[in-house]
Amino acid sequence: MRRAELLDDIIKRRLIYWPSFEIYGGVGGFYDYGPLGAQLRRNIIEKWRSVFILPYQDTIVEIETPIIMPEPVFRASGHLDHFTDYVITCTKCGRKYRADHLVEEELAKRRLKVSAEGLPPESLQQLVDEYKISCPACGGALNGVETFNLLFRTTVGPYSNSTGYLRPETAQGIFVAFPRVVEYMRRRLPFGVAQIGRVARNEISPRGGLIRLREFTQMEIELFFDPLSPKCPYFAEVENIEVPVVPEELVAKGQSEPLLLTAREIVERNYASEWMAFFMALSVKFLRGLGVPLERQKFVGKLPHERAHYSSKSYDQVVLTERFGWIEVSGHAYRADYDLSRHSKYSGYEIYLERRLPEPREVEVARVYPNPAAIRERYGERIGEVIKAIKEGGDVIASAFRSEADRVSLGPYVITRDMVFIKVERKRVEFEKFVPHVVEPSFGLDRVLYVTLELAVAEEGGRVYLKLPPDIAPVNACILPIVRRAEYVEIGSRLMRELAREGFIVLYDDEGTIGSRYASCDEIGTPAAITIDERTLVDGTVTVRDRDTRRQVRVRISDVAKFVELVRRGVGFDSAAKALGAAPA
Ligand code: AMP
Repeated sequence: MRRAELLDDIIKRRLIYWPSFEIYGGVGGFYDYGPLGAQLRRNIIEKWRSVFILPYQDTIVEIETPIIMPEPVFRASGHLDHFTDYVITCTKCGRKYRADHLVEEELAKRRLKVSAEGLPPESLQQLVDEYKISCPACGGALNGVETFNLLFRTTVGPYSNSTGYLRPETAQGIFVAFPRVVEYMRRRLPFGVAQIGRVARNEISPRGGLIRLREFTQMEIELFFDPLSPKCPYFAEVENIEVPVVPEELVAKGQSEPLLLTAREIVERNYASEWMAFFMALSVKFLRGLGVPLERQKFVGKLPHERAHYSSKSYDQVVLTERFGWIEVSGHAYRADYDLSRHSKYSGYEIYLERRLPEPREVEVARVYPNPAAIRERYGERIGEVIKAIKEGGDVIASAFRSEADRVSLGPYVITRDMVFIKVERKRVEFEKFVPHVVEPSFGLDRVLYVTLELAVAEEGGRVYLKLPPDIAPVNACILPIVRRAEYVEIGSRLMRELAREGFIVLYDDEGTIGSRYASCDEIGTPAAITIDERTLVDGTVTVRDRDTRRQVRVRISDVAKFVELVRRGVGFDSAAKALGAAPA
């Protein structure tokens, strides 16, 4: 646990993040991010955008929708019924546990490896009984397994019957906004809609710091496509990227070792569709860009009972950490037409697109015309309203009367067969309706941030620092006058303001020894440390020190911003020095 402990120390001292509400005793599953942590989050988000959205901006767009959503959304999405975990309560001390985790952990203590995720309550109860599992805290007996819904509930406005929920995934906002976004995208598929935002899940037992939170940030894309045209136009760009994958069939056999396949091979072997493999390849690239080597990443196929209720196929992208072992950082699901079809059905707003048929087709359409005489006989003066209702409800009447029904209710009116004429006409159609299918990559920002930090910890000859990729480091450059002397301080402050104006995040520090200040820059991963010294006054140059090699070069003050930019862009310290003609210090 060396790395994890060194990281803990940096996180605590540099206040990167800490448990929320500490002065009130804290509440599990909530974390605050300090200034460095908040900047790190922004940098990771920007990196995600640069990998998943920016290059495909003509196809993938980003939107923002509310965090609180009304109840019907989650009835339609299935979350009210299915977004549940099982809880088990100690009869003696009243502690509550997430049943599947408790079973796994208690059996692991007995050296039995069991995967309890997704098991039905009866099977969990059976395991508790069979292995006589009791409360780990007090040894008390555990009562029956109960269902617990993870949605946070609230009321909207002053009406207590107007229930709202905090969204458990950003995805639902995207599905509900589909009718608007599809217009923006000119009703042309494929297109993707991304959303980055907060979500909340009332986890039974949050733990592991940032790993299992009750409020966290997701970065998601819903990619909509026509199931008859499932090709990804960008696939050639990623087809040779290697992706370590344990397909479902191998997971079912108990294998955990991944196959190293290219994205193309994944598609050829039918392990995933082009769009899914495309996002898997980009996810590998994204994590590599955060410093997670390929051998610490894999995609694990989810077995049917482990998948979310909306998914017909899923992979978890997991990363090997020192502290938690393999943890899921992103979920990749093929949601088919589940969400859009459910929202169509529950909202009554028909969501569909049209595709041109390969050949035009002749179809029979039944047209419904009112019979005024019969309507007047029955409804007298209200004839006008009834005719209007018949015109609006034509499809319903036609389909009812073409089957066996002899009457149809339309609001307050009962329409009998004699009140309408039905005329069957032939029509040529060139288009048909369909509901788009969806592939979704979904990242948890907080977990990504944790793995980025843990894998960045470097220890070399007693020196501990974060070897963060330069574009991820929360601070771009530190400015350190060699001693606190008025002339140096003045140059330092000026340089700091100049770099800030250029959009860089800079830390100025003139307290303590230069050695300790270098160490404190390094430990938060700052790629460049700039020192103002005696020579600065003479020739207008400063030293710039490389975090990783500790080599120093002399750079003209007027070139410092360019230098910092080159380093941030990842050209490498030595190449940046060469490009600007900087001499070794
Ligand atoms: P899911 O919708 O469950 O597939 O979650 C998508 C992603 O959100 C996961 O891959 C995680 O990175 C992240 N995530 C899920 N649950 C939590 C949680 N309780 N705390 C932090 N991150 C989470």
